[in-house]
Amino acid sequence: MSARRSKVAPQYDVIVVGSGAGGGMAAYQLSVQGLKVLLLEAGRDYDPVTETPMFQTPKDAPLRGAGGADKPFGFYDATVDGGWRVPGEPFTTAPGSQFQWWRARMLGGRTNHWGRISLRMGPYDFKPKSRDGLGEDWPMTYETMAPYYDKTELLIGVYGGEEDLENTPRSSPGVLQPPPAARTYELLTKQACDHLKIPVIPAHRAVLTRRQDSARLPQKLHPGNRLAQRVLKQSMDQRMACFYATDCGRGCSIKANFQSTTVLIPPAMATGNVTLITDAMVREVTVDKQGRASGVHYIDKLTRVDHHVTAKVVVLAASACETSRIMLNSKSALFPNGIANGSGVVGKYLMD
Ligand SMILES: Cc1cc2nc3c(=O)[nH]c(=O)nc-3n(C[C@H](O)[C@H](O)[C@H](O)COP(=O)(O)OP(=O)(O)OC[C@H]3O[C@@H](n4cnc5c(N)ncnc54)[C@H](O)[C@@H]3O)c2cc1C
Repeated sequence: MSARRSKVAPQYDVIVVGSGAGGGMAAYQLSVQGLKVLLLEAGRDYDPVTETPMFQTPKDAPLRGAGGADKPFGFYDATVDGGWRVPGEPFTTAPGSQFQWWRARMLGGRTNHWGRISLRMGPYDFKPKSRDGLGEDWPMTYETMAPYYDKTELLIGVYGGEEDLENTPRSSPGVLQPPPAARTYELLTKQACDHLKIPVIPAHRAVLTRRQDSARLPQKLHPGNRLAQRVLKQSMDQRMACFYATDCGRGCSIKANFQSTTVLIPPAMATGNVTLITDAMVREVTVDKQGRASGVHYIDKLTRVDHHVTAKVVVLAASACETSRIMLNSKSALFPNGIANGSGVVGKYLMD
C-alpha cells in the first residue's frame, strides 16, 4: 500500500474516492473546514514538479514524442498511467454502439492533462426542458451557482475577458485574470469575424497570467478560517505566472495552470487532516442498517488485499462512468439494483 499521511486519522469524517477535479476539490474544501478525510485514489502517486516533461525537447522523446499503446497522447502528455485501454479494467460496448472511454489512473486524474478550458454552464443549460422541451431541468438555477463559479475561478485561477454573451455568463468583476495578448492569427480571425458579426472573445482558461494575490485572496475565499487561509497562502505563494514554455497537457512544474496535484492536494495535505492512499481501487460502498453509506471496500493494487474503511460520509468522485460502476456494484438487501439507484438510471445517459 502506498500511503501519504499528513497525520494519522484513525476515524474519518469523510472518505473521498478519486483525486481528480471533483475529489481533489472535495478533499480540499472538507479538510480546510477541519474534517478528517481519507482520500482514496486508484492510480499511482504523481508529483508534477519532478515528473512533468515540461522542459523536455524533441531529442529527449522516443519516436519524436508520437503516441503509442502505453502513452496514447504521446511522450509529452502528463498522463503517466491510463489511456483508452487500462490493464485490468476492461469494458464492453453495446452491439452497434461506439464508445471510447479515456481514463487517467494517477493522483489528480485527468486534471493533469486537461485542456484548462474553464467554461460556466449558462442559464439555458440549467433549464433545458423548460426552454426547448429536451432533457431535464436541474433543480438549481444559474443564479444559485454563480457565486460558486466565482469562488472556484478565484481559487484555481482562471483568465478570460469581460464579455457577456447570450448563455455565456461573465464572471463577477475582479474574478478573472486578464487574458494573454492575442496572437497575430487570432487578431486576423477576429478581424474577419467582426465583418461577419461573429463574436470572437478570449477563451476562459485555468492558467495564471499573473501571480495570485496571496495576501488578499485567502481571506476573501475563506473569511474567518485561519487554517484555510494559511494553507492556501502557502499554496498560492508557490504558484508562478505562466511564461508559455510548452503545452499545458504536459503538466506544470511551476504550478501556473490548474491541476488537482498542484493546486488542491498540496494545501489539503498541509492541513494535517488528510490521509491519502494511492493504488487503492474502490469496488463497493457499504451501508449501515438504515441504508446510509458507512464506508467502502478497496483493493490495494500492489498487494491485492481487500480493505474495508469506514466514515460518516462517502463522496464518490471517481469520474462519471467509474462512479456509476461503483454505485451499481454496491448491491445490498436494501439496494438490490445498486446504491441510490431507485430510479434505475444510474449508469445511463452519461457523458464522460
Ligand atoms: C484530453 C482531455 C482534455 C480535456 N480538456 C478539458 C477542458 O479543456 N475543459 C474541461 O472543462 N474539461 C476538459 N476535460 C474533461 C475533464 O478533465 C474532466 O471533466 C474532469 O477531470 C472530470 O473530473 P472527475 O473528478 O470527475 O474525474 P477525473 O479527473 O478523471 O478523476 C477521477 C479520479 O478517480 C480515480 N478513480 C477512478 N476509479 C476509481 C476507483 N474505483 N477507486 C479509486 N479511485 C478511482 C481516477 O484514477 C482519477 O484519478 C478533458 C478531458 C480529457 C480526457
